[in-house]
Amino acid sequence: MNWTGFSKKSISERLDQLRTNQLLDQKSLNKLDQNEQLPLNIANQMAENVLGTLSLPFALAPDFLIDGHDYQVPFVTEEPSVTAAASFAAKIIRKSNGFKTTIHNRQMIGQVALYDILDKNKAKQIILDKKQHLLALANDAYPSIVKRGGGARELNVTIKEDFLIIYLTVDTQEAMGANIVNTMMEAIAHPLEKLTGGQKLMAILSNYATESLVTAQCQIDLRFLSRDKTEAKKLAQKMELASQLAQADLYRASTHNKGIFNGIDAVVLATGNDWRAIEAAGHAYANQTGSYKGLSTWQYDKDASVLRGALTLPMPIATKGGSIGLNPTVQIAHEILGYPSAKELASIIVSVGLAQNFAALKALTSTGIQAGHMKLQAKSLALLAGAEEKEIDSVVSQLLKEKHMNLETATLILKSLKEKKN
Ligand code: NDP
Repeated sequence: MNWTGFSKKSISERLDQLRTNQLLDQKSLNKLDQNEQLPLNIANQMAENVLGTLSLPFALAPDFLIDGHDYQVPFVTEEPSVTAAASFAAKIIRKSNGFKTTIHNRQMIGQVALYDILDKNKAKQIILDKKQHLLALANDAYPSIVKRGGGARELNVTIKEDFLIIYLTVDTQEAMGANIVNTMMEAIAHPLEKLTGGQKLMAILSNYATESLVTAQCQIDLRFLSRDKTEAKKLAQKMELASQLAQADLYRASTHNKGIFNGIDAVVLATGNDWRAIEAAGHAYANQTGSYKGLSTWQYDKDASVLRGALTLPMPIATKGGSIGLNPTVQIAHEILGYPSAKELASIIVSVGLAQNFAALKALTSTGIQAGHMKLQAKSLALLAGAEEKEIDSVVSQLLKEKHMNLETATLILKSLKEKKN
């Protein structure tokens, strides 16, 4: 499979390439070709007070090599440069044997918070003595997940200020598990009140999914950073420094992590998952030490002449449940990826986050981020000014020569172009 030049192709040529590589069947190709959207009657079932639907670009970042498998990764994003940067990084990292990932666990956590308990230590012991009974109650509340091989696995109790908090870990299999866990938490809340004499404040899933951690790593041969050896070493050193800066400075950490989520959110959205949950988990994890830090690290190993990158994140991603089965384009995203399991999809997404971070740091510590952005920004301005497809290239090339690129200039360029034609 050769994906070089994919970005230069027309949309129909790209679809042809998907056909040639058997990534999609004819039905799905037709849906993309005809730009088939989420049907209104289904949208009306998914959320409330629906008026219509909102479309976003559905793109492909090809050439990811993850745990020895090839993936062409669907991206949904409105931000220029994101898909291009990820594809660029994927190509470089592929040459250095790709990404290796580790799934540390795949369970969700729910919590019941009790208050108004006189002797919290005693209450804690009573609950722990009844652990097996409470786990059974939770499982009885959602028998279908037990049938699928999942279910409640562990129960812990913590005292925090005035609260007695009961944490339940649940194997939710291919689902993200919010509704599954919420059902279980509500089922054990009243029995917990009865056992302790306390009162339930709430019973709900926690989005801090520390039992769903995934690590992606890569090791980039310096040859692929730059052809010039001195330049490559300098770049590797600077990328290590950039990762240290994101550990030291909150202002940088926030932007560093936003860059990681540029890629992550794009795949999370494409695969129909709850991106708020993934963002909430990731940002809470960035603050696990009590101070918010960059999520990835890069280390330059002088002796081995490699740059090592690593990213660990909670990735409670699903391939079933929620609205995944409802949106036709989401189904196409899963098909392009070869219908991965939830764990496999989590590995893909964390690898994409690391790739996105690599591309951003490489650009920032060398040419700067704007050089790559300018052309895409010019394209957006040309479109905003009303350029037709055949006029875009001319408007973009003239805009790039201007000192200040803005909508006013784009409109003037387009106007003079049209006048010249008439
Ligand atoms: P669902 O309520 O859709 O439950 C999962 C569904 O997937 C079940 O109907 C289950 O069927 C089905 N399923 C089919 N195959 C499998 C399989 N192999 N493994 C697991 N389930 C399977 O979704 P979740 O419980 O995952 O909840 C996710 C939704 O909840 C998202 O839409 C999210 O936005 C939302 N949400 C998020 C919250 C948060 O993040 N804090 C809070 C509340 C809601 P069966 O029942 O037959 O087993």
